[in-house]
Amino acid sequence: MFNTIQKEIHQIFDRTFDRSLRLAVTGLSRSGKTAFITSLINQLLHINQADNSHLPLFESARNGTILGVKRIPQLDLSVPRFDYERNLAELEQNPPHFPQSTRGVSETRLAIRYHRRQGIFSYLKEKGTLYLDIFDYPGEWLLDLPLLDLDYRQWSQFLQQFTTPTRQQLNQAWQTKARKLNLSAPANEETLAAIAESYTDYLLACKQQGLHFIQPGRFVLPGELEGAPALQFFPLDYLTASEWESLEKNAGSASYFGVLKKRYDYYRKHVVKRFYEDYFAHFDRQVILADCLTPLNHSHAAFEDMQLALHQLFKNFHYGKRNLLSRLFAPRIDKLMFIATKADHITSDQVPNLISLMRQLVQEGGRHAEFEGIDIAYSAISAIRATTQVNVIENGKTFKALQGVRSQDLQTVTLYPGSVPSKLPKADFWRNRRFEFDAFEPRQLEKGESIPHLRMDSVLQFLLHDKL
Ligand code: GDP
Repeated sequence: MFNTIQKEIHQIFDRTFDRSLRLAVTGLSRSGKTAFITSLINQLLHINQADNSHLPLFESARNGTILGVKRIPQLDLSVPRFDYERNLAELEQNPPHFPQSTRGVSETRLAIRYHRRQGIFSYLKEKGTLYLDIFDYPGEWLLDLPLLDLDYRQWSQFLQQFTTPTRQQLNQAWQTKARKLNLSAPANEETLAAIAESYTDYLLACKQQGLHFIQPGRFVLPGELEGAPALQFFPLDYLTASEWESLEKNAGSASYFGVLKKRYDYYRKHVVKRFYEDYFAHFDRQVILADCLTPLNHSHAAFEDMQLALHQLFKNFHYGKRNLLSRLFAPRIDKLMFIATKADHITSDQVPNLISLMRQLVQEGGRHAEFEGIDIAYSAISAIRATTQVNVIENGKTFKALQGVRSQDLQTVTLYPGSVPSKLPKADFWRNRRFEFDAFEPRQLEKGESIPHLRMDSVLQFLLHDKL
């Protein structure tokens, strides 16, 4: 009863006053966050009273509810600004480029002026403003969630399970250095910094090989913590149980072991936890982007690794009763959208398969049941569309194909990338090489023109329509 009254009061309050919405966008690196936010802002800024043909599926634009959108200064001055102008300039220059990728948290604020269509205000022709705060943060930071619940030893042991041949090979350089350390000896800062750097190189090498599951996530995208001692530690995943026991009993707090443990705890409490407290707990809506197509292009191992990393990332949105997150914070996300990006790499007939694949990645093993009380949607989009679809006639038959400027040699090519599996693919998918695509360059944008896209309007419809 109390809850209902509270909800009603909240709704009345919401309708009476201007409101704000905190929208967070995340995804693993290169999933397309920068492109997505640049396009989202651009599509909104191009809404006007005369022509909204660039957003046919966004009702609030189509029916004239939105009067205009402008960028305004963000509230939190300590968070870097999302550099929309620079990103747009990259697309307008000759030759055009995709904007530079996300490196840390950034923020931007839009004011959306609209006609109220609901409640008593619609009769009064009342106007309102929705302040939209958009946050961009690396998905890698969400991979650190389990650390909140693991001590140094548990974390090191947790990492022991990742022993694929590729990882073992990449692992060697830093492990050789780490194994040489006498962990009971007094710690030398420089030695620790050097081994931590070598460990970071290993994590970066994993990413380069298309392996996304890495911890600590901050090491590859440190943001403002670059070079800080808080990031100069590494796991001791090569120690036996008896070695742990002996070190825990005998190594002093100034020893390598003692300092590593202290730094891990600091990282956990002050870096990971603070991110959840300061940002995560305050988001209203969340978009999670995933580039499913590149691992399909790459290898089975790359696809499996992406799956593992995404599952780790999705855990951040399971608010079950006894969940770690709900125990520590009270996140309040009411809408969550999973989006497969770069859909301009496939022909339009393959888009339903891509959405279905995204859905399977999320729902595998019945995990969707765990997103309690959150409105969920799945989509596939292209934020900055670099190709156009053409029909090709071969042997009297018509096929859909893609045309664009190939990044590798800057030639205009027409190609058919193949079909996207609608279910999680098995190893033979890569053996048969049924899917292969090239990277394309974006088209040069004319001044004042909106960014060409695929289905960004359906994203806006899900995320914003009910608030306008
Ligand atoms: P971030 O690391 O998540 O910020 O990823 P970016 O937004 O920087 O995207 C990484 C790369 O993916 C870009 O440099 C582009 O090459 C590519 N990309 C992103 N979005 C699109 C898209 O809509 N279409 C195409 N063709 N490529 C895209």
